[in-house]
Amino acid sequence: MSEADFTKRSNHVILASQGNLKHKETLPVHWGAQTPLGRGPIVASSTNSKARNAIGTHGGSYTVYRALSIASGKFSSSHKPDLNNTQSPVKIGPYSQWFDATKMVSVDPWGLDPQIHFKSLFDEGYDIRPTIAVTQAHLQLPEIAEAIEKGRIKIDGQIVRENKDIKVTKVAIDPVWYLPGIAKRLKIEEGELRRILFQETGGMYPELITRPDLKVCLPPIGSTTAYIFGNPVDLANEKIELTCRVHDECNGSDVFGSDICTCRPYLMYGIEDAARTAQRGGVGIIIYYRKEGRALGEVTKFLVYNARKRQEGGDTAATYFQRTQCVAGVEDARFQELMPDPLHFFGISTIHNLHSMSNMKYDAIMNAGIKVMNRISIPDHLIPQDAQVEMEAKKAAGYFNKETPKSADDLKKVKGRAIE
Ligand SMILES: [Zn+2]
Repeated sequence: MSEADFTKRSNHVILASQGNLKHKETLPVHWGAQTPLGRGPIVASSTNSKARNAIGTHGGSYTVYRALSIASGKFSSSHKPDLNNTQSPVKIGPYSQWFDATKMVSVDPWGLDPQIHFKSLFDEGYDIRPTIAVTQAHLQLPEIAEAIEKGRIKIDGQIVRENKDIKVTKVAIDPVWYLPGIAKRLKIEEGELRRILFQETGGMYPELITRPDLKVCLPPIGSTTAYIFGNPVDLANEKIELTCRVHDECNGSDVFGSDICTCRPYLMYGIEDAARTAQRGGVGIIIYYRKEGRALGEVTKFLVYNARKRQEGGDTAATYFQRTQCVAGVEDARFQELMPDPLHFFGISTIHNLHSMSNMKYDAIMNAGIKVMNRISIPDHLIPQDAQVEMEAKKAAGYFNKETPKSADDLKKVKGRAIE
């Protein structure tokens, strides 16, 4: 392909503020409809602007890298994926939750294998892209190897293999927002949501303002990944024991083993327990949300760490939340109300063992109509020494725990490391 072809489309910038952008190729979307064709596919690819029925485009936060790749002339903007053999190795859904416009407002269930659900439209030439993908994997984790050596978890040849691998099904979910539903969760008007999204992203998507007829938006934010232990179909069976951890990303701990928080130990404990549940005939799921640093980002998070260590009296549990508030302006920006959507995608109606101490997560799950039988906090022996500050502050703030919270004076005594 010549360089001219690569850059052809960019010669004609169509301003989204033009009022005449409704085309016969634009398919309607009826969120929550009973069939995929009745609901209509989400068309957000940029290969045919007339067929687009959503704001934004595919790939979440990678949208921008794709643009850079096209800009550098290394990637064709007209490339359409060949979806042959990409379909899920297991069947997921449909579940009744998929047909309720209020249950899932940030996940498009028909974004899984659209080439099957919307085959007739593919045949007509529509460029419909998957927003969900499912595959199988083996996990090799030192904490699990240790759990096997200590006899906490056994090799069964199925879930845990002879070489200590854990077999999983993993599911990647890109965000697809149904704006009227998102507004309802936030308890604000849709127009207000659109205006603030437009303003606070520096005007990234003018259609938020100019195209009120487009109800779906693919925001340029991180995705969500689910790891399933056991048979994915069992997630929707309330009679089968389900162990679940809803985990928000913490790169420092999850990947690099930083000891200031309990994120990786809690994640690994969740994986161990999820695998054990599958071994006794149940099913486990870990859902991993890209909401780094309470959705405030790592830059803010590291600034908070320094502010905690340098404050008068040192890093103590008593001022843990205050320091975040000082730097970020808010203690937490995670907005857990959207968090249960992937649970609905898997048809989950009952969680027997919920690995989370967060009341915000618990309340969001309960408000979503999902039953929680038992809440499980991280065992004390898994909490790193420097993470005691976070842990005690959270317990005192009412995070779920079976112990009595410490007094204000006692919280001052729980100290972390200073700047070294
Ligand atoms: Zn962490």
